[in-house]
Amino acid sequence: MDIKELITKSAKEQREALIKKEVSAVELTEAVYEKIEETDSEIGAYNSLTKEFAIETAKKVDEKIRNSEDISPLSGIALALKDNINLKSYPTTASSKILENFISPYDATVTQKLKNNLIPIIGKANLDEFAMGSSNENSAFKIVRNPWNLNKVPGGSSGGSAAAVASGEATIALGSDTGGSIRLPASYCGLVGLKPTYGRVSRYGLIAFASSLDQIGPITRTVEDAAMLLNVISGPDEKDSTSLSQTPPDFTKDLKNDLKGVKIGYIKELCTEGLSPEVDKAVQKAISTYKSMGAEIVEISLPLIKYSIAVYYVIATAEASSNLARFDGVKYGYRTKNPENLYDMYVKTRAEGFGEEVKRRIMLGTYALSSGYYDAYYKKAQQLRRLIKQDFDKAFKLADVIISPTCPHTAFDIGSKVEDPLSMYLTDIATITANLAGIPAMNIPVGLDNSGMPIGLQLQADCLNECKLLNAAYKLEEALQFDYTKPSKTLVK
Ligand code: GLN
Repeated sequence: MDIKELITKSAKEQREALIKKEVSAVELTEAVYEKIEETDSEIGAYNSLTKEFAIETAKKVDEKIRNSEDISPLSGIALALKDNINLKSYPTTASSKILENFISPYDATVTQKLKNNLIPIIGKANLDEFAMGSSNENSAFKIVRNPWNLNKVPGGSSGGSAAAVASGEATIALGSDTGGSIRLPASYCGLVGLKPTYGRVSRYGLIAFASSLDQIGPITRTVEDAAMLLNVISGPDEKDSTSLSQTPPDFTKDLKNDLKGVKIGYIKELCTEGLSPEVDKAVQKAISTYKSMGAEIVEISLPLIKYSIAVYYVIATAEASSNLARFDGVKYGYRTKNPENLYDMYVKTRAEGFGEEVKRRIMLGTYALSSGYYDAYYKKAQQLRRLIKQDFDKAFKLADVIISPTCPHTAFDIGSKVEDPLSMYLTDIATITANLAGIPAMNIPVGLDNSGMPIGLQLQADCLNECKLLNAAYKLEEALQFDYTKPSKTLVK
């Protein structure tokens, strides 16, 4: 197979070519950089490239193959790393002016694991500033365009990670998901995106947005690739006190299990109201496909879902206001020029360094945490969060895996929601509950709408049940045969 075509295929297929010595890891990596050269000026997926490091890594893989040593399943496979995850000695900007010149002094735990597995990191992927957004239009540097249609957003906040994988500028990627930032871009870009159970993957070295919600996870072309990448990044970590002590299973082990008797629940509140007709049709098709595989379909109700956006935007902004207090011009990052005094330095540094959306959230969160309002907003939100989790606990007594659309509609036009933060926040209606409840959730592509944009289905399972989730996703993917290679072959303007 021609190498240009090979880099548009799954990690698994590329690995087979590596093992058979049809291609070298250096050749694969170089082909990916050629693709970036050709297309990234239009897509904007990367904030910076880490070519020297990637080629070095690929050389080590080739040496191992030459010496007939075993290589781990994703060795030599090009990866885009979201630019809020530290890679030692390279920039980590969170797409913010305040960190524009920041060089990571250490590796995130996930980055260390990528290095141990000899996975070439191609570059740092663009995102909404500090991962706040749903369209990647909040990056301080440049927007990202959707490889399926350059006039559409790729989804956010991991828009760069998703656009890189969809366009052939990387084969796999890591994103972070606080309220849907892996699943939404995966949905808009026709990819698989998985937010693991809270604590499954270490957050050490991830720039914190809302610490009780943040999780790192894979964005890939296939379910199996996502399972392989989760194998690499998951596991307990003494550097993150919220990481779970459970040893993770092999996430690829149950992929092919039969679905006979498995209970698939669809969420009444998300599968009936406010959906675009094409998304609705795709969800119905997924349901009938599961039925034909012998799964049992049950209706699930999550009545508190209607409060989830409000709950999320109180909790996430409260945590963000606290986490972002460290960016004050003193220790690292941007500092204003010629301040009059210390107070002036703090104020001007933050006023000049943060973008609009980040400032909006710091103000919202500070308000919600202030004395006098704490009980009315923050405490109430935490109480509702608990009740939402209890709704899920009940639902998982009835179903093994719960499905819904990932978003009520497909990717929207660039610029169409920037003036209206509330309508932007509503795109997360289906995704944020999984973060509030800490459960694993993923997106898989299930079809295209009339304008040729991908439609995503969300699957959710109970805590630590990623294997069930991946099994249900794998079987549907196998039945539907979605063509993820389209945008990397023909970028539509
Ligand atoms: N779109 C949501 C927000 O802006 C989720 C972001 C995320 O998951 N990082 O907060």
